[in-house]
Amino acid sequence: MVQVNTGGVPQKQSLTARALRLAVLRIGLVSLSAGAISYYVNSTSIEREVTGQLLLSTEQSLQRESLPFREIKDLQQNFLKEFKQTLAHPGMEAKLVKDFEQIFYRHEDGSYTQRPQLFEGQPLADGRRFPGMSATYAPGIAPDDDTRARFALSYLLSYKYGSSTKGRLFNFYGVVPEKGFPIYQDADIAKVFVYSGPNALKLETYEFYERGFGTPGNETLFTRMYWDFSNNAWMTTIATPDVADASGRHHILACVDVLLDALMKRTAKPAMQGAYSTLFIADGEGTLIYHPDVMEQVKSSAGNASIRSLKMTRDYPLLEAARALAPGQARIIQTPDDIVAMGLIPETPWVLAVHYPRSLMTPAIFDNLVIVVVLGLLTLLVEIFILRSILQKQVAVPLLRLIQATRLLGAGKARLRPQQLPTQSPDEIGELARAFANMVERVQDAHEHLELKVQDRTAELEKANRQLYELSTTDGLTGIANRRHFDEALVSEWRRALRAGTVLSLMLIDVDHFKLFNDHYGHQAGDDCLRSVARTLKAHAQRAGDLVARYGGEEFVLITATASADNALEHAQAICRALERMALPHVMSPFGVVTASIGLAVMALNKEETADGLLRQADEALYSAKARGRNQVVLADIQ
Ligand code: GH3
Ligand code: MG
Ligand code: MG
Repeated sequence: MVQVNTGGVPQKQSLTARALRLAVLRIGLVSLSAGAISYYVNSTSIEREVTGQLLLSTEQSLQRESLPFREIKDLQQNFLKEFKQTLAHPGMEAKLVKDFEQIFYRHEDGSYTQRPQLFEGQPLADGRRFPGMSATYAPGIAPDDDTRARFALSYLLSYKYGSSTKGRLFNFYGVVPEKGFPIYQDADIAKVFVYSGPNALKLETYEFYERGFGTPGNETLFTRMYWDFSNNAWMTTIATPDVADASGRHHILACVDVLLDALMKRTAKPAMQGAYSTLFIADGEGTLIYHPDVMEQVKSSAGNASIRSLKMTRDYPLLEAARALAPGQARIIQTPDDIVAMGLIPETPWVLAVHYPRSLMTPAIFDNLVIVVVLGLLTLLVEIFILRSILQKQVAVPLLRLIQATRLLGAGKARLRPQQLPTQSPDEIGELARAFANMVERVQDAHEHLELKVQDRTAELEKANRQLYELSTTDGLTGIANRRHFDEALVSEWRRALRAGTVLSLMLIDVDHFKLFNDHYGHQAGDDCLRSVARTLKAHAQRAGDLVARYGGEEFVLITATASADNALEHAQAICRALERMALPHVMSPFGVVTASIGLAVMALNKEETADGLLRQADEALYSAKARGRNQVVLADIQ
């Protein structure tokens, strides 16, 4: 017996399903990597494009925004130059002192303001007009001629430079360190700041004053942005001091206040769609001038809020980069959220940073990605469809037919026809089917051959069995039934007779003086004699149901169905005579020929009797026949 291990048989899976699963996996991987490549290529190319545009537009903005400041700087330089040259003229100081006296008048507390109505354009005695000019002067000590001359000159030049740029600049003023403050502007400062004594205008508290006169350098300075309440606007002051003298003293400071609203508005709307800009001072802190998100904080901190103070950590890279900027040149900085082009606005300490949020690029990148993925999925669908139909038609169905054929063959129930197999397929499955059909034919032939052989063997066996049975029920010497056969037959014939209501008679036939025959003629002749007796007996038991058997030695037995005891007696006597008439010589017998004695017993229907009983009666009758002289029949008594 072959042991089949079923424990390790994998779960049944359709070939098609497996192939399709592999296809899904394969195309899924391909689309995924194609998507990744497309994502990378797209994002880098889009980023490159964005970066280029950002740099270009930012540099343009830097140049454009620098123009007004360049003009202011140039004006202030010219102002300072003219101031210095004018003062150097001989006799100029006296003239200017006279002008001072004409323009200003002294308050009781020692401070000065310009004479009334000058702002409105009222002429001086000499006809000169200074409309738009205001002035306050609060010297700590009484002014000397030099101071008066410088203050007057500052007044004259402020008017000159201020009125020449009317409409473009907000104001223009030249401040003397002795706290003189003449200014050209649209509104009269003296009206706005209601004059209330020498300490009303604390110039020393102003950043431009402190920084402009605080150091000997003559660099242009920009103050921190401040909220101007009189104008309701964000402003910064641009101030340039003159070259300090040997003692480190300045004589004049040229100033312009700049309104930042327009700049802020332009900053708020960068050229690139979706971008936003910030403006901050390159002071290491990133003090903010403009940032779209935090203007409230900027305002509430009076312009002190900075990238650092507001902890705008994501913009810290900008602070780092701001240190290394060259004016007018933009460079790209990557912050966690944005691509930033930043640059120093020339002539200013201000950094303009144009932020392009990375998130803006995402839709474009994802549009491309979606196209790639959709294409991948479409390919997948088409491949699945094709693969499925090919596999189903050319593999799964033929294989299924082969499997069914194998089962049929295994069951051995029906004869397989080659048409049931996919032998026409031109591929490997066809080859398999043809090989299988071949094998089926041979298996079926072998099967039939085997069946025929089994039939033959069965017939032979039956014959042998019959022979064996006959041998076991036949007497070897005489060829008639033996004692064993008789014993069986007696029982069955007895029952049959009982059922059928017929009469069964039994004869025990014993050859007379057979010992003498043997002794005289020899054992061989004895055997021949027994065979002759058997033949004669057989000849007298030809009816259906008759049975002759050798009972043992020279004794025979005959059973037969009989109509009556008389018929049976006649039959026995006929046999007795027939044996005698064989005329086998027996010189040792008183009859001269071979004879036999017969004990006959007939079944008594009305009495309870057994087959054994019948046999015993026949035996007793035989004994009587011997005793009565042999060669005769004795019928057992029926009592
Ligand atoms: P009776 O007339 O009283 O029957 O005398 P009998 O001699 O026939 O009887 P007995 O029983 O004395 O002898 C039977 C003899 O039959 C003895 C035996 O040698 C002989 N015999 C038995 N079977 C065979 C046999 O198969 N072949 C031969 N040749 N002789 C047999
Ligand atoms: Mg005997
Ligand atoms: Mg005898």
